[in-house]
Amino acid sequence: MANQNTCLECSKPINGRIDKKFCDDGCRNTHNNRLNSESNIHIKRINAVLKKNRKIIQSLLPEEEKITVSESNLKILGFNFEYFTHLYETKTGTTYHFCYEYGYLKLENNRFMLVKRQDTKKA
Ligand SMILES: [Zn+2]
Repeated sequence: MANQNTCLECSKPINGRIDKKFCDDGCRNTHNNRLNSESNIHIKRINAVLKKNRKIIQSLLPEEEKITVSESNLKILGFNFEYFTHLYETKTGTTYHFCYEYGYLKLENNRFMLVKRQDTKKA
């Protein structure tokens, strides 16, 4: 007793080869286009978060200086601590989180040091 495959796009029964997933090319294209646009939306959403994080640090940080700010200060501005582009660990074991060239280091008392990677230091 064979299970008849149904089209992943329109759910109609598929005739023909057992490994077919779509009833025709139109359904396959529609399905793949939707998957692509869904993953694009996901990428765009995360990129937007990363860019916003970067912009927040940039706006708080005077050119080529370090400052410390409170966590609540960053949160009020909409900073999202879940997303960052990379980590940077110093020789002393301190880990900075970076959003592109702007980074932050968690300090005590819910304060953060904000830094900008100097252009002279190549990653
Ligand atoms: Zn179909």
